[in-house]
Amino acid sequence: MARRFSGLITGENPNPMYGGSRNGVGIDRVVIHHNATTNKNVAMSTWYTSSGNWTSAHYEVTPTEIIGCVEETYAAYHCGGTGGSDVPKMSNPNERSIGIENVNSTGAPSWSVDPRTVANTAKLVRDICDYYGIPCDRQHVLAHNEVTATACPGGLDVDEVVRLAKGGKPSTGGSANNNKPTIPSKPSTSIPAGFTAEKGTFVNGDTKIMNRVGSPSTTAAQGGYLPAYGSWAYDSWRKVNGFTWIHHVYNGQHVYLPVREWPSGVAYGDFK
Ligand SMILES: [Zn+2]
Repeated sequence: MARRFSGLITGENPNPMYGGSRNGVGIDRVVIHHNATTNKNVAMSTWYTSSGNWTSAHYEVTPTEIIGCVEETYAAYHCGGTGGSDVPKMSNPNERSIGIENVNSTGAPSWSVDPRTVANTAKLVRDICDYYGIPCDRQHVLAHNEVTATACPGGLDVDEVVRLAKGGKPSTGGSANNNKPTIPSKPSTSIPAGFTAEKGTFVNGDTKIMNRVGSPSTTAAQGGYLPAYGSWAYDSWRKVNGFTWIHHVYNGQHVYLPVREWPSGVAYGDFK
C-alpha cells in the first residue's frame, strides 16, 4: 500500500501539483533529480497545476528540509521522457517510481548539491526502500539521466546517495559540523524476540485488517487499517496469541499485522 509521505518529512507543500494514477503498477524504483536552480520555491512552483508544465516530483530536499509535494499514492511526472526520440529506458517510469528533487547549492556549470542535502536524500531513499521492500542499490535507485536523456541530476552523485543510504560515511565535504545531517536518523531496524527473519510482502484479501503497535496482540495499541487488497512489507513473522503476525519497523515503532488465524490456519491474503 502506498502511503501519503515518508515519516521523515519536515513539512508539506499544500499547493495542488500534478499527480496521476499509478495504474496498479507497484513501486520498485527511486529516481533522483536536481532542481537546476538554487531556489527551492522556484523549483516547486513549476510542479503546480497552475504552472501548466505537467511536471512534478514527490519530494523536494534541501540542506534542512524534506518537503512532501506529491503523495506517494500517486505517480508524479518526473522521469517520463519528453516524447519524440526521448524514449525512457524502462517501462512505466513514473508509475513505478518515487521522484526526489534536490535543490542546488551552485548554478551552472557545476550544479553542485550541498552535502547536507545529499545526506537528507540518502535518509529518505533508505526509508522509501525499507517501506516498499525495494533493494537499496544502483539498479533500483537511479539518476534521472539513467531513465531518460537529460543533464539531470547535474552535480549530484547518486553513487554517494546510495552509499550513504546503506550506512556509509560521507566521502567528501568540509568540517564535520557543516556536514552534520539535519534530519534525525531512524532507529535501526531490529527483529523482535521470538520472530523469524523473513522478508516479504503480504497482499491483503477483501477485508481490512487492523495493525498493532508495540506487541503482536489484538489488545495492543491500534496502529491503523491495512485496506482490502493493500500490501504490507514485512521483515519477520511469528505464530503467537492465536495468529501468525508479520512485523516491520515504521517511524521507529514495531508494528504487527495478524495475517493468519489458528487453529484453522486460514490466511487473510497472499504472500509474495
Ligand atoms: Zn530530473
